[in-house]
Amino acid sequence: MSTQVYDAIVVGAGSVGLPTAVSLAQAGLKPLVIDQFPGPGQGSNKAAIGGIRATHSQPAKIRLCLDSLRIFSTWKEMYGHDLEWQANGYAFVAYRDREEKELKELLLVQQRHGLNIRWVDRAEMLAAVPDLNPGELRGGTFSPDDGSASPLLSSVGFFQRAQALGVEFRFGERVTGIIRRRGRVAGVRTDRGGYATSTVINAGGAWARSLAQAAGIDVPVVPDSHEAGITEPVAPFLGPMLVDIRPFEGSKNYYFYQHKPGQIVFCITPEPPVVGTDRRETSTFLPMIARRMVDLVPKLANIKVRRTWRGLYPMTPDGSPIIGPGPELEGYIHAVGMCGQGYMLGPGVGLLVTRMVTEQLTDGDREVLEELRPDREFGGGEALK
Ligand SMILES: Cc1cc2nc3c(=O)[nH]c(=O)nc-3n(C[C@H](O)[C@H](O)[C@H](O)COP(=O)(O)OP(=O)(O)OC[C@H]3O[C@@H](n4cnc5c(N)ncnc54)[C@H](O)[C@@H]3O)c2cc1C
Repeated sequence: MSTQVYDAIVVGAGSVGLPTAVSLAQAGLKPLVIDQFPGPGQGSNKAAIGGIRATHSQPAKIRLCLDSLRIFSTWKEMYGHDLEWQANGYAFVAYRDREEKELKELLLVQQRHGLNIRWVDRAEMLAAVPDLNPGELRGGTFSPDDGSASPLLSSVGFFQRAQALGVEFRFGERVTGIIRRRGRVAGVRTDRGGYATSTVINAGGAWARSLAQAAGIDVPVVPDSHEAGITEPVAPFLGPMLVDIRPFEGSKNYYFYQHKPGQIVFCITPEPPVVGTDRRETSTFLPMIARRMVDLVPKLANIKVRRTWRGLYPMTPDGSPIIGPGPELEGYIHAVGMCGQGYMLGPGVGLLVTRMVTEQLTDGDREVLEELRPDREFGGGEALK
C-alpha cells in the first residue's frame, strides 16, 4: 500500500474521469486517477462521435451540458489544445406529424431552461442544410450553440491539463476493491497494490457496476452496444449535426455531422437494444444506416466509408446519469450511467463532483443531484437519450 494519501481517487480516465480530475486539481486538491487500460480515453470515450449539445429533455442534463459547452468552446483559448471544437449546432428534423409534435413539446421545456433553440420552418431548415431531402420536410428544431469536437483530442487535452496541474495517473491497473474503515472509504485496492484516500469517485463507465459492487453497492448500469462509422474527408457542406428521430425497422434515431477536418461521422440507436460488451462490428449496421442517411441527404450517396466501430453506452434504466454519494458508504461518489451522452456531460459532471467534494454545492447543484440521485425511482424515461 502506497504511503501517500490522496485527496480523492478517480476510478476511470474516460469522458467523465479526465475532466473531473482537471476540476478537482483546479480546486486545489491532489487526486489520483486509475484506469485499467493503457492510456487516457481508451474506454467508451474513444468510441464517441463527438456530439456536444445541451438540447435535452431533462433540466439536470441541460444544466450540466451548458457547463460542458462553455468548457469545450473555450478550451483552446484557455489551454492551447485544439479539440477540433466547432459550434455547428444541432438540427432535429421533422417529416411527419408525430415528430413535429414531439419536438415542439420538448422545445417548451428546453426554452424554459434558457436554451438557445427554436423551431425553424421547412424553408429555413433547407436554407441551413441545403442538401437535406426536401420531400415531406416540415422543419425542425435548431440550436446554434451546440456543437462538436474530437473525443480523442479531448481526452489528450484533459489528460495533459491534469498532468500540468500535478494530477497523478496509474494506467494498466484495475481497481478490485474499496477499503472501508468504520463505514467510510479509506482507500482502494488494485491488482498491483493499494492507495489511501477518504474519497473515491466511480467514473467507471460501462464497467461501473462491478466497481460499485466491489464497494458493496449496486448501481443499475448496464453496457449497451452501439455502432458508429466515419467517411473519407470532403469539402465542408453539411453544417449542423442532423438528428432524425423517426423509428425504422431495426433502429430508432440516428445522427451524423461533418467533423471539422471534413469526415462525416455517424451513429444509430439499434432497436431492440444490443445489451452486453461485444464490440465486434456487425454486417447489418452499415447497410441500415447508409440507407437512412442517403435518404435524408441524397448527396451522401457517393461518399466512401473509411471504417466502422462498436462501443459501449453505460446505460441506466431511465436513460439518465446517476450522480451522487452512495448513502451506504461515506466518501464514495457515483459519477456513472452517462448513456449515450458521457462525452458531452463529462466536463459539467466534473465541476459538479468537485463542488460535492469541496462542499461548495449551490442550490442549482442540489436540484441537479436530486434529479440524478442514485436511489431515485427509475420509472421515467429521458426523451432524447
Ligand atoms: C458509437 C458511440 C457514439 C457515441 N457518441 C457520443 C456523442 O456523440 N456524444 C456523447 O456525449 N457521447 C457519445 N457516446 C457515449 C459516450 O462515449 C459515453 O457516454 C462516455 O464515453 C461514457 O463516459 P465514462 O467516463 O462514463 O466512461 P469511459 O469513457 O468508458 O471511461 C470509463 C473508464 O473507467 C475505467 N474503469 C472502469 N472500471 C475500472 C476499474 N475497476 N479499474 C480501473 N479502471 C476502470 C475504464 O477502463 C474506462 O477507461 C457514444 C458512444 C458510442 C458507443
